[in-house]
Amino acid sequence: MLGFDYLIIGNGPAGVGGVEGVRKVDPKGTIAIVGDERAMPYSRCLLPGYISGRVSEKSLTYRPSSFYERNGVSLFLGRRATSLDPSERKVQLDDGSRLGYGRLLLATGSSALLRSLKGNHLPGVHLLRTIEDAQSISEEAARARSAVVMGGGLVGIGVAIALHQRGILTHLVSASPRVLSQNVDQRAADLVAGHLRKSGIDVVLSTDVDEILGTDRAIGARLSDGRILECDLVVSAKGVEMNTDLAVGAGLSVRRGVVVDDHLRTSSPDIYAAGDVAEAKDFITGQGTTLTIWPVASEQGRVAGMNMAGGDSAYPGGVQICAVDFLGMPVVTVGESREPKDASASEGKVEMDTGQNGYRKLAIRDGRVVGAILVGGAGDIGAFKGVPCTRIDVRAIRDLLLKDGFEFDRLVGALLVREPAAEAR
Ligand SMILES: Cc1cc2nc3c(=O)[nH]c(=O)nc-3n(C[C@H](O)[C@H](O)[C@H](O)COP(=O)(O)OP(=O)(O)OC[C@H]3O[C@@H](n4cnc5c(N)ncnc54)[C@H](O)[C@@H]3O)c2cc1C
Repeated sequence: MLGFDYLIIGNGPAGVGGVEGVRKVDPKGTIAIVGDERAMPYSRCLLPGYISGRVSEKSLTYRPSSFYERNGVSLFLGRRATSLDPSERKVQLDDGSRLGYGRLLLATGSSALLRSLKGNHLPGVHLLRTIEDAQSISEEAARARSAVVMGGGLVGIGVAIALHQRGILTHLVSASPRVLSQNVDQRAADLVAGHLRKSGIDVVLSTDVDEILGTDRAIGARLSDGRILECDLVVSAKGVEMNTDLAVGAGLSVRRGVVVDDHLRTSSPDIYAAGDVAEAKDFITGQGTTLTIWPVASEQGRVAGMNMAGGDSAYPGGVQICAVDFLGMPVVTVGESREPKDASASEGKVEMDTGQNGYRKLAIRDGRVVGAILVGGAGDIGAFKGVPCTRIDVRAIRDLLLKDGFEFDRLVGALLVREPAAEAR
């Protein structure tokens, strides 16, 4: 049986971050990565662009094979870890082999959620998580005339835009009364939906898909209001579930994700978790949460890697950040960007129009900026992203914030940006 000082399961940004973190502290220890996808690590964020034809397959890759050679990493790609035994420090792979480890990083990510729905097994119905998913959507898009995308979140909108850009009549169907219901407030959602409609995408809200129609392949979708939308292609983008099977099987503490402490260590001392699969601290609330975004996965991977190698790096907490461009409309959200569940808990909010089709807002609680939204062209987006990452009390300048013409970006530039994770000692 082969054994490694550090074994990483999952070759996405959290796994890659894990390698970088380990190597910051330990230049020599042996490292191996097991990943069930064969491709070199690629950006899932760019998959909608790949479907639209605007991003080449080559430019999806963000770490070439030389990265692994340089870092002395043994790769086990196209192999799946099927079980984990913490007491024996062994991982079983799907080809029957076993790998031993000194310390292990679970970086298994999440999977697209397949809703149970009549007809969802039919050819022509797709999920979007992997490059293979994107390739098969892209192939079918070459022949499709109309498409139904289920789910009005970031991935659903991204796919709908990609298919629209391929000249396909595209219906974006969301059970929620607004798009981006997990990311923005009503006003921002209205601006985005209006922009998508103006651009030619049929946005259908407060309506679910009840059934996918067809016998040999998908030919339409029956909606909860009784309407039937004819289509050649269906993409389901209804959220994700965390890949926690290994952790559950090994008896680790798991809620929605694998529970980790401030050093990203799981309930088993030599096992760490990072990325979509991990339930780690939220910077703003201090509570455990799963934040399924790229920069968080990457940072958590690095912090976990440093700690696995003997460092003492406290994870400061993740912040939900979204920065996208929907057909020329930039949308940036940071932290608590939806309406608060308990309106009385929110001390106040600052809303500022930025002209036609533009909107920006800061959410303030207990004197601190806890969230921000920017929709439309105005403002320095880079600076805006840092706002809720500060612990500055803005009470004294609250009136200033509310003033018309307040120079928002200047304030942001002057604020302290969140201190990065402490480097390993
Ligand atoms: C279409 C799409 C668009 C996105 N757009 C954005 C965006 O614009 N901005 C943003 O910040 N985020 C975006 N994301 C989310 C972002 O891609 C994820 O947060 C990020 O990839 C998570 O990284 P990870 O390393 O935790 O997991 P993953 O990237 O999921 O990698 C985990 C890897 O581990 C593998 N694996 C799982 N179980 C096993 C096992 N038992 N054995 C071996 N291998 C295993 C998985 O197959 C996968 O290859 C997008 C995601 C998708 C799907």
